[in-house]
Amino acid sequence: MLFDAHLHISDEYNPLDENKAKELIENAEKNDIKYLVSNSTCIRSIDENIFLLKKYQSIICGIGMFPTEFKTEKDLQYIDVIKNKVLELKKEGYSNRMIIGEVGLDFKEEKSNKDLQQRALLEILKIAKENDLYLEIHSRFAVKQTMQILEQFGYNKIIMHWFLDSKKYIDRAVKLGYFITVGPKYLYDQNLMDNIKEVPKEQILFETDYPASVSGKICGPEAIKDIFDKYCKDFEIPKEDMQSILEKSFSKIFDPKT
Ligand SMILES: [Zn+2]
Repeated sequence: MLFDAHLHISDEYNPLDENKAKELIENAEKNDIKYLVSNSTCIRSIDENIFLLKKYQSIICGIGMFPTEFKTEKDLQYIDVIKNKVLELKKEGYSNRMIIGEVGLDFKEEKSNKDLQQRALLEILKIAKENDLYLEIHSRFAVKQTMQILEQFGYNKIIMHWFLDSKKYIDRAVKLGYFITVGPKYLYDQNLMDNIKEVPKEQILFETDYPASVSGKICGPEAIKDIFDKYCKDFEIPKEDMQSILEKSFSKIFDPKT
């Protein structure tokens, strides 16, 4: 079973276009991509991804806030929004089709409020733990600090997104049992092979991060097939075997009771 472990059908730059979303979801279905984990990055996208969750069986909803949205103290109110949306969805019976994401740290911009981002991440980790949910973690220019917070907090239901450049930390993330995503960059960058090798197959997930552009190209969820094919070929694993590993990983993340 294939699924896209991280994309954004709605995000802070792209409000939901219902027709475009329908096309994307149907196209994924045609290509046997069974589930799409649509991560939120702002308040509007949380509501739009919840709308998609309720409309389409294949959508798994990420409730989250992009780290750079935490600019001033008053932005800490977003944490309550995340908490309330999570509780609401749980009450409505969506526990098995939700996740906390996209959250984490992003120190790329000089003016980013590093202290606030770290405080927010800690609070969001508490929400995930209280509700027994996985988190999709972003760590651009802040891998060291992100790993520090995650390790100190000690909650290991973690998916590290776009993390494979950080060779130094892969080993630690693997030991802690985190899942690590392989994205479209792998299709263009042979150097990633060395890092992917460090991750056991049981901890690998595939993602497109749609609509992010990689090597000037935007990959829709159907690209999961190309990433999956390349992985099976490079690592000499029969496709059926990798499919069943992915199925097990999926159950572990979204249906821990079975
Ligand atoms: Zn993303």
